[in-house]
Amino acid sequence: QTEKKTPHVAIIPSPGMGHLIPLVEFAKLLVGRHGVTATFVVPTDGAPSKAMRSVLEGLPDGIDHVFLPPVNFDDLPEGSKIETLITLTVARSLPALRQALITLASRVSLVGLVADLFATDAFDVAGEFNASPYIFYPSTATALSFFLHLPKLDETTSCEYRDLKDPVQIPGSVPIPGSDLLDPVQDRKDDAYKWTLHNTKRYRLADGIMVNSFNELEPGVLSSLQKRDDTDGGDKPRVYPVGPLVKADPGTKVDESDCLTWLDKQPHGSVLYVSFGSGGTLSSQQMTELAFGLERSEQRFLWVVRRPNDKIANATYFSVNSPNDTSFDFLPDGFVDRTRDRGLVVHSWAPQARILSHGSTGGFLTHCGWNSTLESVVSGVPLIAWPLYAEQKMNAFMLTEDIKVALRPKADGENGVVRREEIAKVVKALIEGEEGKRLRNRMKELKEAASMALSEDGASTKALAEVAHKWKSQIPN
Ligand code: UDP
Repeated sequence: QTEKKTPHVAIIPSPGMGHLIPLVEFAKLLVGRHGVTATFVVPTDGAPSKAMRSVLEGLPDGIDHVFLPPVNFDDLPEGSKIETLITLTVARSLPALRQALITLASRVSLVGLVADLFATDAFDVAGEFNASPYIFYPSTATALSFFLHLPKLDETTSCEYRDLKDPVQIPGSVPIPGSDLLDPVQDRKDDAYKWTLHNTKRYRLADGIMVNSFNELEPGVLSSLQKRDDTDGGDKPRVYPVGPLVKADPGTKVDESDCLTWLDKQPHGSVLYVSFGSGGTLSSQQMTELAFGLERSEQRFLWVVRRPNDKIANATYFSVNSPNDTSFDFLPDGFVDRTRDRGLVVHSWAPQARILSHGSTGGFLTHCGWNSTLESVVSGVPLIAWPLYAEQKMNAFMLTEDIKVALRPKADGENGVVRREEIAKVVKALIEGEEGKRLRNRMKELKEAASMALSEDGASTKALAEVAHKWKSQIPN
């Protein structure tokens, strides 16, 4: 009965690869370092994507996964936002989740249930199994602090947050303009806001919250979150910074080696890597400006492009690849030819973690997704912040104004487009300029701090050990 002696946790991811990736790294640490095994119980709203399946099927011993049957969304109005969809995917999966946990608990000692940021409805079934409820927060401590603060902000504010005269004071953080807060709180009448608020109110039910950050990256916010006497009522759960958890190096695959062999031939620190995450898309006009901006900057670049989309900025969030679309007909005429000797354009997807850790990469123009940001931190690569959706504007603000590792190009006042001149200027400044040098040095310090935090007696390792210890102590002798 060794299975019953080992503490086991159920992990409930909400849909989206960006949420799954750090949870997987989290599970690997639990198994590899802390003697806790895990099962991913995955709510779905359709057939799981290939990317998702391949990640889950490749997990080491000690980590299982089970997909719950897809929920039905036929009743939802057209245009329901992502936060609504992911919360409802979890909420509507509760009966199936209960069944899955019954099966699991008959086999293992289920001591904990770890829900990700929009999956707190799963707490409703945790109690039946005596599994202590935890949250894994895959984004910044700053966004977490905002989430914990949101119920109070909601009660005390009557207008839209973007119309507030003063920036919003998030406990421990630099004040952030309302218009830079995350997407789902930009329209308080939309269901996405209601579901976000619903989740944040339930954060207090958690025994603890693990966040994918580390003390040196967000010192103010993390120390405020770890204080027991808090401005938001003092009843908040313990917060454990356990990061940075980034995707492990997958090793070179043949079909991925193009970018890397190209990088091998470029001078040290000379290349700007350009990517908008797993789902980011630009408008056609913005795509054209970016192309001309890169050309005009006269810097080397590796650009992961995706067909532009004039309607939404996260067009491909749920479905990662469109493998049949391999033409670059949406780029300006002759662009690929004119930049051939210093630019590489690749379709849809590139081995990002390996690109960032390659010595030739000197900067990263990013949508500021938190996984991308952390991958840049652990590689010591400074940023150009180009936020698109979700909490990315908040991240961009923090990276530029507080942590000071990013430049942020200014958009045109009228239509929000960033012009080619501005792009060229910022790219040059990051790769060749004095400012770029300062940001790079700051990133190098953070890289050191990150590696310390994750070392054997680093703060993030200790924080996770503390959680694991609690779970272990729940097993009867
Ligand atoms: N990613 C990648 N290749 C790409 C685009 C993205 O490997 O071409 C990975 C990236 O390394 C990161 C994740 O996908 O681990 C994106 O997560 P992030 O939080 O940055 O953004 P999201 O995709 O959730 O918007």
